[in-house]
Amino acid sequence: MATLQVNTNVLPARNRSGTATGAMERDLHARDRVGVQDFVLLENFQSEDAFVDNLRKRFKENLIYTYIGQVLVSVNPYKNLNIYTQEEVNQYRNIHFFEAPPHIFAVSDTAYRSLTEEGRGQCILISGESGSGKTEASKKVLQFIAAVTGHKAQVETVKDKLLQSNPVLEAFGNAKTNRNDNSSRFGKYMDISFSALGSPVGGNILNYLLEKSRVVHQNPRERNFHIFYQLLAGAEDEMLAKLQLKRNLDTYYYFTHGVEGKVNTIDDCQQFQQVRKAMAVIELTEQEQEDIFAIVASVLHMGNVGFTEEEGQAQILKPECVEAVSKLLGCKTSKLDRAFTHRTIDARGDVVTSPLTREMAIYARDALAKAVYDRLFTWLVMRLNTSLQPKEGRRKEVMGILDIYGFEIFERNSFEQFCINFCNEKLQQLFIELTLKSEQEEYQREGIEWEHVEYFNNKVICDLIEEKHKGIISLMDEECLRPGEPTDKSFLTKMNENLSSHDHYISHRKAGKELQKNMSREEFCLKHYAGDVIYNVDGFLDKNNDLLFRDLREVMSETTNSITKEVFPVSDVTTKKRPDTAATQFKNSLNQLMEILMNKEPSYIRCIKPNELDQSGVFNDRIVTHQVKYLGLMENLRVRRAGFAYRRPYEMFLQRYKCLTPATWPNYHGPSKQGVHEIVCHLGFERDEYRMGNTKIFIRSPRTLFATEDAFQAK
Ligand code: ADP
Ligand code: MG
Repeated sequence: MATLQVNTNVLPARNRSGTATGAMERDLHARDRVGVQDFVLLENFQSEDAFVDNLRKRFKENLIYTYIGQVLVSVNPYKNLNIYTQEEVNQYRNIHFFEAPPHIFAVSDTAYRSLTEEGRGQCILISGESGSGKTEASKKVLQFIAAVTGHKAQVETVKDKLLQSNPVLEAFGNAKTNRNDNSSRFGKYMDISFSALGSPVGGNILNYLLEKSRVVHQNPRERNFHIFYQLLAGAEDEMLAKLQLKRNLDTYYYFTHGVEGKVNTIDDCQQFQQVRKAMAVIELTEQEQEDIFAIVASVLHMGNVGFTEEEGQAQILKPECVEAVSKLLGCKTSKLDRAFTHRTIDARGDVVTSPLTREMAIYARDALAKAVYDRLFTWLVMRLNTSLQPKEGRRKEVMGILDIYGFEIFERNSFEQFCINFCNEKLQQLFIELTLKSEQEEYQREGIEWEHVEYFNNKVICDLIEEKHKGIISLMDEECLRPGEPTDKSFLTKMNENLSSHDHYISHRKAGKELQKNMSREEFCLKHYAGDVIYNVDGFLDKNNDLLFRDLREVMSETTNSITKEVFPVSDVTTKKRPDTAATQFKNSLNQLMEILMNKEPSYIRCIKPNELDQSGVFNDRIVTHQVKYLGLMENLRVRRAGFAYRRPYEMFLQRYKCLTPATWPNYHGPSKQGVHEIVCHLGFERDEYRMGNTKIFIRSPRTLFATEDAFQAK
């Protein structure tokens, strides 16, 4: 347990640190039916059951939003609620956070005003598991910002581009999964820059870890990325002919694992038209669009190449597919042909070319398809950013929106879950730094004496994963580079030898009886802040190495397609330096992200999925409880309650409760602080129950506030 020391100091107050009260107070007596609007009001605040109870009560009333102090908890309604109209925009615009019921617009408005009025850079951090509503939430924030900002032609263009970036990124980066028909398969951080006048003038997007394995393989009932189906359903005959594609989905090997081609909830044809329009808005030229679709088509053709084997050497089964690829990307068929079936190794100047086995050829081809698609996606993001670039000198402050995968615990967890959960550990670190820090700063500003807040600091887990030389990623990289025959097993052995003494690393041998039952010898367990996760090492080294044979890289660098040519630079082929491994690249990009976020004022949106059926009106206690745990909401609430759960400006407190003492009612003209003091003395607040800050009163427990409110209602 770490201890946070809160110091005393004096700084000007800002209005964002209030707790939802106003409307909430009005609502106190309805709390049995609709629950409390802010979890800090929950009397039994340490009980997970009480927490989930409160969420359920509200969910049944279509109240999907609830606060934990400043944190917004959102439960996916799986139906369109009429709560995002212009009326709500107006309602939440320019009022204090705590004057209206919890809403994502309230969070957006608070962040926007803090940015424009106080010049503080903002970040809105959205987390939750797949299908919990993160991406929809990020769109609501964007919608609100677009609605409340200027309407000059120039600004409108920027807004249009910001809004239209979504359909393009979703077409290439989202897919139907078993959890969500429109699941984002990449992490996204978007910065919106604002002018001094508060109008959006540009943006910048960072993308994280696209799940590129989906290009070549999908789980049963899942799909490949949307764009493939959109293209086949929506392109005109002429365009398809040019791309040498047939509409029939069965034609393509890269769809055969998932099977699910047509989905009722998805209109691929209509989506395709929307994507084409969006592409024009973000200023992709005709030629660029042509090159993009040539790449998409070439990936499908790669899947169909097929290999046989003769005397241990791979032979191409369908040369016409290789021809299609080379025609679409613009390279010599003979060279591509050879690169698909051979591998050249440059061992310290000794250049040796050897034929591939069928198995190796398939591996190489899939690696190419994944690399081409992945780099196309990154190129698209880069290209979007060019189009969103603010004009020089006009940018003032930025608001970032992070929509990134939540904690994942599956039946079988692999390299991808390892990366995703590492990302969540880092975000938890940031949460601790930023929220506890801001809590501390508020006490300081208000001149309140030291408060000790106990919390679990997950830095030990981050270190276990990322520490130089000793951490899991270092060990994995070392194993990937080791001469000899490194395997996933030898990597596991290495971890077991080096990490077994770590409190958060559990090897099979070290596992207790209970855990061991669920663990095989190919697995290790990490005690994450959100729970224990068992990882299977199978595939770790391959995925970390992320190898694309030099021959294929070389062919790609010589293509005439402007995009493949650009994303496979010649320098990559000639360099002797090994590129960073996948895990190291991810680690570096996460650390960059942390730096970006660290200097911003955070707002948190925690999304919860109420059931696994994607159905409205169904609230599954077990599933929700899981998420409450993994999102660390109980800890969040505990920390919030550990100090003073309530705080609000003297003016507001006085305004509401002045009728409770003769000293302030009916006429009072003295300073607000003095007036509030009269009230609390009159009501007999216990000394330890409250503090008088510089601009605000702090109340330790909701019980005291309830009593005050009861007195008010009785008047
Ligand atoms: P995530 O990004 O967390 O995986 P999404 O934001 O894609 O999840 O949401 C999954 C689906 O849930 C959406 O396609 C939509 O149908 C529904 N949904 C999410 N949030 C809302 C909301 N606020 N109102 C109505 N439906 C929603
Ligand atoms: Mg999403």
